[in-house]
Amino acid sequence: MSTITLCAFCESLPERSPGQVVKTIRCPLCKTDLGVSSAGDKFRVAAAGSAAASSGHGALIAVVAGFGAAAVFAGGVLLAMMW
Ligand SMILES: [Zn+2]
Repeated sequence: MSTITLCAFCESLPERSPGQVVKTIRCPLCKTDLGVSSAGDKFRVAAAGSAAASSGHGALIAVVAGFGAAAVFAGGVLLAMMW
């Protein structure tokens, strides 16, 4: 009951780190968040941490942080300097 039940399609997908996600889609069958790589491959996104994976919102943040951390950090520093 505690684990997410994957559909057959998602079950067959490989699992990769959130850092490879360039786009996130949601499986219409089992509602699992799937990552799409820059090459267009679909895969299950490995949980970055148990805390982040505890909610969909946290998982989304983890995914965004995975591929956009550098840009967000740079933007934040720039904003901080401008203020
Ligand atoms: Zn699925």
